[in-house]
Amino acid sequence: MEITGETRLVALLGDPVGHSLSPRMHNTAFAHLGLNYVYLAFRSNEAELPAAVAALRALNAKGFNCTMPLKKAILPFLDDMSPAARMIGSVNTVTIEDGRLIGHNTDGTGFIHDLHNHGVEVKGTRILIVGAGGAARGLCVQLALDGAAEIVIANRSLEKAQSIRRLIASHIPACKVEAIQLSQGELAPRIAEADIFTNTTALGMHPHEEACVIPDSSLLRPSLVMTDLIYIPGKTVFLKLAEEAGCTAINGSGMLLWQGAEAFRIWTGQDMPVELVRKKVFPDN
Ligand code: NAP
Repeated sequence: MEITGETRLVALLGDPVGHSLSPRMHNTAFAHLGLNYVYLAFRSNEAELPAAVAALRALNAKGFNCTMPLKKAILPFLDDMSPAARMIGSVNTVTIEDGRLIGHNTDGTGFIHDLHNHGVEVKGTRILIVGAGGAARGLCVQLALDGAAEIVIANRSLEKAQSIRRLIASHIPACKVEAIQLSQGELAPRIAEADIFTNTTALGMHPHEEACVIPDSSLLRPSLVMTDLIYIPGKTVFLKLAEEAGCTAINGSGMLLWQGAEAFRIWTGQDMPVELVRKKVFPDN
């Protein structure tokens, strides 16, 4: 794509951003569809956020993504939010419409879209989620909104899991939700009851590549769908154990692609060519 006087900017704000795959994803899609946008990453911390937002607004940017540590820090700058983002309390995608900033959260929808892409529907299912950080919060809200029958959240710090439990129980009472302490004793019966078992902790990612929330595959069964939000490495110990037990094993690369595709649609109104982008960004996947 040639940059012209009409090219619109879409940005990524966060710190760090140098490792981000989002510029490759979005610029590949803009070029393929002939859309006159360019996506650039700008390292920006909380102290720099007011100036960064003012600059993007003044420069008529189309919008931006927010990543760590800005997903909550951006909230006071927004003029409006999608209902799900408001409930989750964090935003990863912003559009700028006539100078007004509208916030969205596409992490949960990206996760569910990827499950759908693997032939897994969440409506009526029982889901066991390990971890209760920012990503887990987005996933739980979207899973509950999309009709999951039951969510069990297991976390090292029980209070964080309880906070998500209270949020779901008060806003989406049709979904049964429980918070438990992360321990092998507590997990075992929950694994037996779950349809989908998801790791949202950093266990399995550098520098914890050999770590896993379960010790072995003895509690797993082939009908279980196991997903890990981690995408580097592409196959964590969690997913290796899943494969060993004959489970469906899904890593975080699809979630990353689909959360980006959702943001792309919000900015451009068009569908991202996801398979083409996948080949470019994850050639070995
Ligand atoms: P976060 O807010 O920092 O939460 C981290 C979670 O991991 C917390 O629940 C924490 O438990 C738990 N944890 C960390 N170290 C642990 C340990 N040694 N033992 C047990 N639990 C541990 O992070 P996040 O934003 O939710 O991200 C979580 C993961 O998802 C990261 O690996 C991130 O890269 C990945 N992610 C992937 C995508 C994607 O598109 N694929 C999108 C977002 C995030 P405590 O609460 O007890 O500290």
